[in-house]
Amino acid sequence: MEKILEIQRRFFRKEKNQFLDRIEEELAEYGYKSERKDLGMFVKSINLETKCDKPEFIFIAHYDTGGVIPFWFHPFCRLLGTNSIASFVAIIVIFFTLDLISSYWHVASYLRLILGISFLSILIPNKKNFDDNTSGVVALLKLAKKFKEKGMNHAKFIFVDNEEWGLFGSRAHKKYLEKEQNMTPQCKIISIDCVGGGGKIPIITRNGKSEYAKYFQKEIQKQFELCKSVRMALPFSDNYSFSEYGALNISFANRAILPVGYYIPRIHSSKDREINLPQIEKLTDVLTDAIKNLLQPLS
Ligand SMILES: [Zn+2]
Repeated sequence: MEKILEIQRRFFRKEKNQFLDRIEEELAEYGYKSERKDLGMFVKSINLETKCDKPEFIFIAHYDTGGVIPFWFHPFCRLLGTNSIASFVAIIVIFFTLDLISSYWHVASYLRLILGISFLSILIPNKKNFDDNTSGVVALLKLAKKFKEKGMNHAKFIFVDNEEWGLFGSRAHKKYLEKEQNMTPQCKIISIDCVGGGGKIPIITRNGKSEYAKYFQKEIQKQFELCKSVRMALPFSDNYSFSEYGALNISFANRAILPVGYYIPRIHSSKDREINLPQIEKLTDVLTDAIKNLLQPLS
């Protein structure tokens, strides 16, 4: 697993390929057959999946890493949270207010310009990416290992590309699985993103109805004291691509200052340089047991 932690930046294709080599090596060690899929029409995504026909469970983690977030974004998210519509409304209100007053007050025009230009920082590759999303990749590998050891062969593990640019990898993979008729409507899908950083509260996010979100929330809560389930209108992570299957995402986040949402600290910045491996171990133990209990009546 140490080798996985060595390649921290997966922004360019070469870095991504080197990282995929290491995931493949690890999966082969556990006894998995895996395959790279070159998917997508306009934005090419190279995803890696383990072989499993008609899986009952699909686990997804994005392996690509993003750019540096604008300097004002972290304090902003700390105040309002990233999951609330309020934060997006606030951004629009700020821009329009600056627009309105800029004709009377010149400083406002400069401020608007600075805010606009600050968005360009997302083109600068972020160097350290332990929480977002090395933690998710590590979680998937730990799950894969535990499932193999317990003889649970009903799950597919997918490591997807280009989440940071708009969930391109997971969207293309969903289309591919449907085309191959390798996904049943009963398939349960869990995305894991940011589970090893500064966030303290396990959060389940879903974009619509999910018949299994409650079950996993209850199981996680047993071991972590608290687990929140949040329904989101906007995309948060790769579960959004599979929302009609009730897909959910697991992250660890903190409460925002205003009681409207949650935020994940330190991601997309040079401060994302710690990974809480015991927490990932505990989470993957909980998920393995939860799924084993679900499978029991079937086998
Ligand atoms: Zn992420």
